[in-house]
Amino acid sequence: MAKRQLHREDYSVGWVCALPIELAAARLMLDEEHRHLGQDPNDTNLYTLGRIGEHNVVIACLPAGQTGTNSAAVVAMQMRSAFPLIRFGLMVGIGGGVPSDEADIRLGDVVVSQPHKGHGGVVQYDFGKATPSGFERTGFLNMPPTILLNGIAKIRSNEFIGSSSLSEYLSKLGDAPAFKRDNAGPDVLYETSYKHAGGPTCGSCGKEMAVGRQPRRNQEAVVHYGTIASGSQVMRDGATRDKVSSEFGGVLCFEMEAAGLMNSFPCLVIRGICDYADSHKDKNWQPYAAGTAAAYTKEVLSVVPALGVSRIPTIDETINGRTGKRS
Ligand SMILES: [Zn+2]
Repeated sequence: MAKRQLHREDYSVGWVCALPIELAAARLMLDEEHRHLGQDPNDTNLYTLGRIGEHNVVIACLPAGQTGTNSAAVVAMQMRSAFPLIRFGLMVGIGGGVPSDEADIRLGDVVVSQPHKGHGGVVQYDFGKATPSGFERTGFLNMPPTILLNGIAKIRSNEFIGSSSLSEYLSKLGDAPAFKRDNAGPDVLYETSYKHAGGPTCGSCGKEMAVGRQPRRNQEAVVHYGTIASGSQVMRDGATRDKVSSEFGGVLCFEMEAAGLMNSFPCLVIRGICDYADSHKDKNWQPYAAGTAAAYTKEVLSVVPALGVSRIPTIDETINGRTGKRS
């Protein structure tokens, strides 16, 4: 069947990802792919258009090799102007997990930005100024859009009564071998202070330095809700990871794009955990983690009705204060 072609104004959801493997996972979540639209010559994004449930979704990936907050901000800005009726964004991809006594995070789990302990859901941990008394963080990032936080509440209630659709949506990754959990390898967490012994794998790292954790009874991904730390450098040190986490009252995940989006492209941040943000990190779990994050995103869209979305302000109205409401 030929692909349908819609109008720019038909799209209300913007989905941003950083890596090709994340774009691949996003595309597999589409119920229908739409034909391309003509492109503004000044717009360097490449869009994938389609439908997920009731929602028409625009997907854009950051340019190859250009991840990070600045690149994310540029892509989101161009998307906003190309699709003026987008009402909220979704930043979906992989991230480094922060396991703790409070959060038993495993590889392949999903972390979702949600306000926690006075923080809005995403914190920019490396932004601020050097002062005589030390580094002082400045700036505040906005919370995710309320309609998406309501969606989270609905999903969490579904999780309590065992009617989550996550595994159903995960199966949409189908037979693509890249996304198979079995191909990801073992899930080993090392003691915070134990540094990687060197080499491309943890083959030389001391088995006795691994944290003893009970394997999960089933292999299903668990979703964690709370603070995501965003910064411009890769977090790859266990001690620094835990220090930053404690400074923010508990961080669940580190990533490198969301801080460039929250104030100009209101979005929910959804990260599949592919490593533990320490010196042992490798890329083995990236595909599966990209898949669980994309599957959870589809679940979010499945609980948020399109009619409700059409009644909230567009991102432009939200940012520029043109909500149409009179006080
Ligand atoms: Zn190692």
